[in-house]
Amino acid sequence: MFGRKKAPTAQLGKGDKLGIYIHIPFCRSKCDYCDFYSLAGREKEMDRYQKALLAHLNETAPLAQGILVDTIYFGGGTPSYYGEKRLRELLGAVQKLFQVEKGAEITLEANPDSVTLKGLKALRKAGFNRLSMGMQSASQEELNAIHRPHTARQVDEAVAAAKKARFKNLSLDLIYGLPGQTMDSWKATVEHALSLIPQHLSCYGLKVEEGTPLCARVAAGEQLPDDDLQADEYLWTVGRLARAGYPQYEISNFAKPGYESRHNLRYWLTQPYIGFGPGAHSDFGGRRYSFVRDLDAYIDGVLNGGSIIDNEELIPRRERCGEYLMLRLRTARGIEEWEYRSDYFMDFAPLEQRLMEFQVQGWAQKTPEGRWRLTPKGFLVSNQLIGDLLERQRQGDLADLLPKAREQYARQKN
Ligand code: SF4
Repeated sequence: MFGRKKAPTAQLGKGDKLGIYIHIPFCRSKCDYCDFYSLAGREKEMDRYQKALLAHLNETAPLAQGILVDTIYFGGGTPSYYGEKRLRELLGAVQKLFQVEKGAEITLEANPDSVTLKGLKALRKAGFNRLSMGMQSASQEELNAIHRPHTARQVDEAVAAAKKARFKNLSLDLIYGLPGQTMDSWKATVEHALSLIPQHLSCYGLKVEEGTPLCARVAAGEQLPDDDLQADEYLWTVGRLARAGYPQYEISNFAKPGYESRHNLRYWLTQPYIGFGPGAHSDFGGRRYSFVRDLDAYIDGVLNGGSIIDNEELIPRRERCGEYLMLRLRTARGIEEWEYRSDYFMDFAPLEQRLMEFQVQGWAQKTPEGRWRLTPKGFLVSNQLIGDLLERQRQGDLADLLPKAREQYARQKN
């Protein structure tokens, strides 16, 4: 694994725990906006895929010996469409092969049309303890407009079944900026989601991704809600959810205290994780790598011994400190001077100076604990703000190098 021919040599830091991500690339049908690696109409490959995943888990597990796994995440695609029996078998294999911590967070992504009470009960019993449900909208017209595979009513039925099956950690995904959406219909979606009393909500702005049917529709002249409406929807949502007891902890994520997604937080806090499946990414042993976004190539590679690596790189220190800014500033936790200085040995002053300017604009704030974070208004323009800080960081790095270069030049001259 790691492409079978290359095994990582670097070890994790003392006390580091590990997350496991398993990608299930099957869907009942494709939604118009989706550019995830997911396939409709490939159900007949599910058994071979299962065999490949089990083999891959088996050969990877020895590399993670002695490391506690504290989060497991089945994402997709539509994991719930893969069938409860296969999911239980996979989770059982992970539990047997890896050292899974007691109380680990074990998430299953599900769509409302592919869950049943019986199946959910069996999954809960097998150890899944968090369900992330793709609701997207409470409006049937909006669901139709993006070709979601489920109805608005199925969302309510699926949530009721999840509660009956004793899932006590439920997340709902919503999308703002959908075709035909208005501020009022978005508010109705959020209010409906709140009435279902989830523990966690993810609210994503619709993005028109290259190569999707939605992209073709827009190219053919279809109008979508504009950026101003999306911004108003976003800012209203942050306030509404805070008042409802779901503080924002990341650009798109809101949770009742104690229900933040531990698995997703590890991406933003740059903690290690191993992924399985086509297109899955890993950050493990000082290396970042991803597998081919091709179901057949992945299955053949794993079962017949070929390489399945798409990309692999060792991450230099300078890139990690860029990641620190890029990922931590997505979170409400933000960044902090001593954390930055002690981890990356870099000067925080140029960044702080810029953050103070952002503060004047209402884009950033310093918390009473002395951390810098973006405000909801800042999150709206986070790409630009973080890009600006990265530029400062790069200049700071060069400034650090300048005295050394001068010294070296002087030595060579003498
Ligand atoms: S269900 Fe999810 S993964 Fe599947 S096509 Fe729709 S958005 Fe993509």
